[in-house]
Amino acid sequence: MGAELIDGKAFAERLRKRVAEAVPSFSVATGRAPGLAVVLVGEDPASQVYVRSKNKATVGAGMASFEHRLPDTTSQDELIALVEQLNADESVDGILVQLPLPAGIDDKAVIEAIDPDKDVDGFHVISAGRLAVGEEGLVPCTPLGCLMLLRDRLGDLSGLEAVVIGRSNIVGKPMAQLLLAENCTVTIAHSRTRDLPGVVQRADIVIAAVGRPEMVPGGWLKPGATVIDVGINRVPGADGKSRLVGDVDFASASEVAGAITPVPGGVGPMTIAVLLRNTLVAAHSRAGLPAPQ
Ligand code: NDP
Repeated sequence: MGAELIDGKAFAERLRKRVAEAVPSFSVATGRAPGLAVVLVGEDPASQVYVRSKNKATVGAGMASFEHRLPDTTSQDELIALVEQLNADESVDGILVQLPLPAGIDDKAVIEAIDPDKDVDGFHVISAGRLAVGEEGLVPCTPLGCLMLLRDRLGDLSGLEAVVIGRSNIVGKPMAQLLLAENCTVTIAHSRTRDLPGVVQRADIVIAAVGRPEMVPGGWLKPGATVIDVGINRVPGADGKSRLVGDVDFASASEVAGAITPVPGGVGPMTIAVLLRNTLVAAHSRAGLPAPQ
């Protein structure tokens, strides 16, 4: 293996520590801890795991965690009423509604009900707009985590060719906006892209956010490229158990890339760490305090 491993787990731990260190001064200034409310509707097992780890991480950083678990019989109006109650609650700085929501509830209507200043997931259309026009705002956690890893590894990203594979509203599009704001030359690839290998070949930075196991082989990469693998795919393992793989074929890619994130242990751990950071930033902004560094 030639590529340097980008250790997202270690970076995320450092970020969580920095957030935790900034909490006491906020509490002294405001008389309360930053607060994150997480809303889970229904029994989706993966969502339950995510919500548990978000709660644990929030408490671990010294913040207040408000967990709201609602049955899958909850109506959209009831859910929006809870969001509005959280919007009005002064002790809540961040609101996260765990997706996917049960059938019959319109994700978009619920997300749009969140106060954009408390939108720590960064999925509100106003957050997306602020990012697009370069205004201060809350940015989706996973792409912001990817950007932090890139800056840590490469420093100034100006002028680099970046290819983002995937154009979802939660990963691909905000990722492309962030890279553009860093003065990269950005290409967004998707399922209709012609000659994806040729597009990827010219990239100094490759972000794979597709959801297709090991789709990007090392042969597509420019030698020395920095590869950020957002994909989380569960595939059958040799021992009969399942294992996690990314959207990049790690074995062949790590022979060609300059640096690469592993799966697991790359982008995954960054998401919750950035969620804590976004909650801290939202808390400071709502309290009229300067953003923590
Ligand atoms: P979506 O399914 O919403 O988007 C996938 C994108 O990939 C689409 O834009 C789609 O194109 C594109 N795509 C599909 N097939 C191809 C192909 N053959 N060639 C090129 N592009 C293709 O996924 P998400 O953005 O939500 O997630 C992507 C991956 O990231 C998943 O594996 C997910 O599990 C993971 N993820 C990880 C997170 C973390 O680490 N914490 C957080 C969020 C996601 P089109 O638009 O044309 O359909």
